[in-house]
Formats: sequence, structure tokens, C-alpha cells
Amino acid sequence: MNAPRHDAIVVGGGAVGMCSALALAQSGRRVAVLDRGLAGAESSWAGAGLLAPMRPWDYPASIWRLCVESRALYPALADTLLRATGIDVQFLECGARLHDPRCHARATDWLERQGLAYTWERDRGIDWLRMPWFGQIRNPRLVKALRMALPGIGVTVLEHAAMRRLRVDGDGRVTGVEARRDGETLVLDGADVVLATGAWSGGIVPDAPPVTPVRGQMLLLATPRPLPAGVWLLPDSYLVVRADGRCLLGATLEDAGFDKTVTASARVRLRDSAERWLPELRGATVVQQWSGLRPGITDGEPVIGADATRPGLWWNTGHYRNGLAMAPASARRLTAAMDGAAGG
Ligand SMILES: Cc1cc2nc3c(=O)[nH]c(=O)nc-3n(C[C@H](O)[C@H](O)[C@H](O)COP(=O)(O)OP(=O)(O)OC[C@H]3O[C@@H](n4cnc5c(N)ncnc54)[C@H](O)[C@@H]3O)c2cc1C
Repeated sequence: MNAPRHDAIVVGGGAVGMCSALALAQSGRRVAVLDRGLAGAESSWAGAGLLAPMRPWDYPASIWRLCVESRALYPALADTLLRATGIDVQFLECGARLHDPRCHARATDWLERQGLAYTWERDRGIDWLRMPWFGQIRNPRLVKALRMALPGIGVTVLEHAAMRRLRVDGDGRVTGVEARRDGETLVLDGADVVLATGAWSGGIVPDAPPVTPVRGQMLLLATPRPLPAGVWLLPDSYLVVRADGRCLLGATLEDAGFDKTVTASARVRLRDSAERWLPELRGATVVQQWSGLRPGITDGEPVIGADATRPGLWWNTGHYRNGLAMAPASARRLTAAMDGAAGG
């Protein structure tokens, strides 16, 4: 089965792939997105929706720049998605409170150098570093809205279509992909290929970037007494108090391959680590527990741009713990690089 011609094929329908598809379509390309399952059902759904690294001072400056750029793009993206789909992705500048004496000095030094606002608060008998600029998004809504909006701007979304291999012409140029869908081989040809396959990127083609899955488990809690809204950053866990009062408690960092099992030990460990600092969590009930596979990458920075040796092949992957915080700017960088290569 041969599908109609596209200019760009994005493999992977997570937040990174769908933001890439949106940006590429907005740049005038005919785009197809392929996902081997349902778009937006993997890490981008599972994440907590924080729009900055929990401890940005521990990350390379390049990651912080992508977060700042994305932060500037999110209000317009949220507005576009609301108008196109009626879904409010709840982009909020909710602020964060950090209690972690191991890094308070490093944090304030970094905040001063960045010119970012902060205050100290004493609450529950401990000191909290309050960062009012910290943002969050309801990421399951983000991916749902992206999935709904893409066809409206002409993007073909092909779900349950697993890429099997790249198509390469006689000059070594990547020209498309072959995928399996409904037991048939689907050929998409005559296009640039963007691999945005998250945790699966490391094995998707030979000589892929060194991306490996890092499992993260999360809990959704209903608390007997409401906690102030916003993000609470603790020494070994974090809590996101959503606009509806429910709390996300995360997250583990586990090397478990592609296994997404959730465990009782993680549940106990996460609860213990948070209840120590926020005693009102003690009577909370666990409404849901889930896990996702982050795209971890060896040198810690995402790969955004052209493949080193295969013309026609592009990457947008390796966003590890901050893919939601970086997706809009990563998509814009990728599109700019592809425009540059096309002489645009
Ligand atoms: C518990 C947890 C908490 C997190 N919290 C945050 C947070 O607060 N803030 C933040 O910014 N980030 C957070 N993250 C990280 C963030 O979720 C990821 O960095 C981001 O979702 C990666 O997006 P992605 O699109 O690259 O990957 P994914 O969302 O995993 O999408 C990759 C897609 O590729 C598809 N695919 C794979 N192989 C193929 C193939 N052969 N053919 C077709 N399709 C294929 C998959 O089906 C999948 O849908 C968290 C992650 C976890 C697990």
C-alpha cells in the first residue's frame, strides 16, 4: 500500500513529534506523523507537566535555553490548541517551592545570575525557596489537543503504524520509511524523515543517538486536606498540586529496559519521601499509579537536527526528563534547520 506524497514524515507521535509536525506544517510542508501505537500515549502522557527542570542549575545552559524559548512559545500554542480543539491545556505559571538544603546555595547563586525572581518562605517549620516563574501544563491534555488539531492543519496522522526501516536511494539519501500497519506494509516515500521516537530512538536505526529508556513511576493522590496549588520540590521527590486540587507525586528513575510495570516498592518510597516534608499527605489515597519511559541520553542533551551521515534524515530526540518543557522550542529549532537545508 502506498500513501500519498508528503514533504516530511515524522516518526513518533509524542509531544516532541507532534510539536515538530505542527511546526513543519506551519512552515508550509505536507506532513505525516506515524506512531506505532496511539499518538501521545507514551512518556508525553505519563509526565508531570513541569515546564522547567526541577533543579535547572544542574543542567547544561543549552537545556535551560530550550526551556526558556519553549516557555515563551507555550501561551500561543495553548491558545492555538484551545481555538482548534476546545481543549484547555492549563498552561499555568503556578510557581514552585523548593526544600533541599543540599542545593540552596547553588540555587540562589544561579537564580541571581539568571536574574530570576525568588523569595524565602518559612512554612511547616522549614525553609522553602519560592520561584514564582515556575510553570506547569496538563500534558495529557496537551497531547490530546495536538492529536486533535493536527489533521485540521493538513497533517496526516497514522496510528498503529510501526516504522520498520528507512528507505534510502542509490546516493544514500533517506527518502522515506516502510512501516507495518494492519498487517500490511505501508510505504511513505519522497520525503525527509524526522525520528522523534522518544525512548525507542536508540535502536530504531543503525548508528542512532545513544538514547535509552529510563522508567519513571508516578502517583495521583487525593488528599484529605487541600495543599496550596503549585509545585513542591523535595529532596527525593516532587509534588504537583493541580488546579483541581489533586496531586501528582513523582517520580522514580529506574533502569528497567522497556518494562512499564508499576511496583509497590516505588509507591511506598515515593510516599515516604514526600510525607516526611508534607505531613498532610499522610491520609492521602492513591487514585492511580503509572509509569512512562523517558528518553535518556548519554551526554544529557537532546539531539535536534540533521543526522551526521544520512542526508534526508533528522532527529528530535533524547529529551530525557524535560521533553515537555523543551518540545515547542525543539520543534522550532528542527524546522529552522530543515528550512536552512532546503535553502529557505
Ligand atoms: C514519570 C515521568 C515524569 C516526567 N515529568 C516531566 C515533566 O514534569 N516535565 C517534562 O518536561 N518532562 C517530563 N518527563 C519527560 C517527558 O515526558 C519526555 O521527555 C517527553 O515526553 C519525551 O517526548 P517524546 O515525544 O520524545 O517521547 P514519547 O512521548 O515517548 O513519544 C515517542 C513516540 O514514538 C513512538 N514510536 C516509537 N517507536 C516507533 C516506531 N518504530 N514507529 C512508530 N512510532 C514509534 C512511540 O509509540 C511514542 O508514542 C517525564 C517523564 C516521565 C516518565
